[in-house]
Amino acid sequence: MVDQAQIDALRSVPVPPQDLFIDGARTASGRCQNRSIVTPIDGTILTTITEADAGDVDRAVKAARRAFDSGIWSRAAPAERKKVLHRIADLIEAHQLELAVLGVRDNGTEIGMALRAEPGSAAGTFRYYAEAIDKVYGEIAPTAENVLGLVHREPVGVVAAIVPWNFPLMIGAWKIAPALAAGNSVVLKPAEIASLSLLRLAELCTEAGLPDGVLNVVTGEGAVAGEALAMHMDVDVLAFTGSGAVGRKLLEYSARSNLKRVYLELGGKSPNIVFADAADLDQAAKVSAFGIFRNSGQVCVAGSRLLVQRSVHDVLVEKIAEIAAGMIVGDPLSLTTQAGAISSAAQLEKTLGYAAQAADQGARLVTGGSRILEETGGFYMQPTIFDGVTPDMTLAREEVFGPVLGVMTFEDEDEAVRLANSTVYGLASAIWTSNLSTAHRMIRAVRAGVVHVNTYGGPDITVPLGGVKQSGNGHDKSLHALDKYTDLKTAWIQL
Ligand code: NAD
Repeated sequence: MVDQAQIDALRSVPVPPQDLFIDGARTASGRCQNRSIVTPIDGTILTTITEADAGDVDRAVKAARRAFDSGIWSRAAPAERKKVLHRIADLIEAHQLELAVLGVRDNGTEIGMALRAEPGSAAGTFRYYAEAIDKVYGEIAPTAENVLGLVHREPVGVVAAIVPWNFPLMIGAWKIAPALAAGNSVVLKPAEIASLSLLRLAELCTEAGLPDGVLNVVTGEGAVAGEALAMHMDVDVLAFTGSGAVGRKLLEYSARSNLKRVYLELGGKSPNIVFADAADLDQAAKVSAFGIFRNSGQVCVAGSRLLVQRSVHDVLVEKIAEIAAGMIVGDPLSLTTQAGAISSAAQLEKTLGYAAQAADQGARLVTGGSRILEETGGFYMQPTIFDGVTPDMTLAREEVFGPVLGVMTFEDEDEAVRLANSTVYGLASAIWTSNLSTAHRMIRAVRAGVVHVNTYGGPDITVPLGGVKQSGNGHDKSLHALDKYTDLKTAWIQL
């Protein structure tokens, strides 16, 4: 159990300038250009990261390919890889507080959530794939007697992983752990504003015995380092989590380079649908509030559209507004904080812009709407609710990725389904009802990768997470993630 004094002891520890991590060691960039990292906690400069250029990315990919071709990891027995992955999990747990605080200083997530969702979840992810990989078998095909058809599962080679600034360790581990378990080498590109904990993770992986070159981290600008990685001719698979706008570019880069396979985990505008027969409106209100306002709304699966049946609209909105207005927003390094900072000044500006636009377009502000704690120099915003949102409004259609909830009303199940499916996204959703048949019909009717029933959020690694429509393709988590990082090979043997 972590206490506040332990966190405070790490609050101001200087963070040295961060080099790239290539071939098992920290290394400077060829072009020696750095980027200042501003902490969203108070707007001061925390450290610098290295701006990798195409040459650095090429070095990282070459190191990954060398390691892969050497067979030191790719051809090691799965049971050997398992031992190293378990040691990585051990080290993540041993450095849990250091990793969580470093990440929070970088991106502003409240520490209570960061401890659970970042090192806590990353360690579990490494253990899950460590345990899975020596239990994945090939197949023998049901062929005629005079032939033998074997289906092997092989690592794909060099995997590029490009990840966003929210939950970098958790999302990074969702990609790194299954890719490594399957025997691949990885080149990871963290987001500009959330690189620190992933660079530290790479060091811990080496300490755990991961051979040099098997995991490399290139930091810096998406349009430079990210593009160079996505365009690289020797990357076999690109696994991405981030915005749809960048996802589109990655598909283009693949088409313009070597047709690498591209898996996209993109954004959402997830409907949280409350029927009048929900068993416990207090619970629905509480979970709905945290479903949108935790991490100040910077959660891909955030329930950012509340669809509520007319007869319970007033009472539910009032309950959620009360919870929102009472939430402790502020210092992300305080254990009592319920919603930390917005990750950057630009994201705060964008979020405030969405709020202003919602008001301009005729939505009714119920609570919040403004920047707070400006005197700290940090980037904070009140949990914000707009009622009377209609499907044509920007707030009903575009992902805000901030603490802004839009409320819409429906009369019956058909209208709930129509509204739920009325965006280009299909990531998450929730249904609140005490009617089992309604729940089952809605599970089938809502187009989304995840449907929660009478809850919101389920962090378990055993189930896949992925979207439909413009929320992406492919899945992180669960054994299904291994499909992204393995190729099937048929061996056809004449007997
Ligand atoms: P983003 O798309 O701006 O950036 C994501 C990553 O792409 C970063 O590392 C960035 O440097 C890189 N990048 C940017 N331009 C690039 C380019 N031209 N070529 C290659 N790489 C480039 O996203 P973000 O703002 O960091 O994260 C927020 C988005 O991520 C939201 O849309 C959110 O919904 C989504 N997200 C989705 C999931 C999921 O599981 N589906 C999880 C978390 C976040």
